[in-house]
Amino acid sequence: MAGLKSVRELINVTAEWFEEKGVDAPRVCAERLLSECIGLSRLELYINSDRLISTQELDSFRGLVRRRAAGEPLQHLLGETEFYSKPFKVQPNVLIPRPETELLVEECIKCLTDSNSSIVAPKAVELGVGSGIISVSIAAEIPRLEVHGTDISEDAIKLSEVNARLNGVSGRVSFHLGDLFEPLPDRLLGNIDLLVSNPPYIKSDEIEELATEVAVHDPHLALDGGKDGLDFYHKIAIGAKKWLNDHGKLILEIGSEQGNDVCKILEASGFRNTSVKKDYNGMDRIVIADIEKENCNG
Ligand code: GLN
Repeated sequence: MAGLKSVRELINVTAEWFEEKGVDAPRVCAERLLSECIGLSRLELYINSDRLISTQELDSFRGLVRRRAAGEPLQHLLGETEFYSKPFKVQPNVLIPRPETELLVEECIKCLTDSNSSIVAPKAVELGVGSGIISVSIAAEIPRLEVHGTDISEDAIKLSEVNARLNGVSGRVSFHLGDLFEPLPDRLLGNIDLLVSNPPYIKSDEIEELATEVAVHDPHLALDGGKDGLDFYHKIAIGAKKWLNDHGKLILEIGSEQGNDVCKILEASGFRNTSVKKDYNGMDRIVIADIEKENCNG
């Protein structure tokens, strides 16, 4: 039929249009959305670049393209994303996984495989699981690990359970609905080897200044760290001291300007060996600390 565009043509015009509208990674974005609409992988799009797009396919593609240009995140339009090389479902009321958070997973794995390698059945806890990316990724990497994750959002817990099943780790990862430590089983008290969290850390009055994708489409519950962005670090520091065991480690994601403050908060609660690690963009992103308990020699 005359007038129909091919895969190649449609990707080219859409990528240009996205670029004009200031959409990030315009070509990849056009390809991912077209993949979704016509049921071909990105590789298949290249192989079938002369295939014509039907009017019906074009209508559904245009709908998604308009929503993306208006600031709706690609991940929400696709309903899925990749994190630490694994597929994760996403949904609008739960924070979209960020690539920087992969570094947190790497540090958790290092910590559980290096210094604590003698522990037969290590236990990790994640506070504020969101879509479950950290809990699921560390469980998938360390087959003997038992993981417990908590979140105050029921949607986050349900989504995390879906993602644990999707990645085959639901037998070793349990998700609990409630605020921070509150829903954890009592048997874990003083018995946790690793505590990890990517808590909300944006200053309340800075949320509206973030990109539309974040300010409008990410849940503020997962972003808002209070007036100075540090509310959750105070709460976590206090609880962590009780819940970690004698050689327990704490690994936290932080905002790029919060390294010093978070180290000070942790040190004031009795943590030691605090260190700040940078992400792949050279920004401070992680704080790691050891617990300091009486009679602890290691
Ligand atoms: N890293 C996220 C952002 O910059 C914030 C996530 C969080 O508050 N933990 O939007």
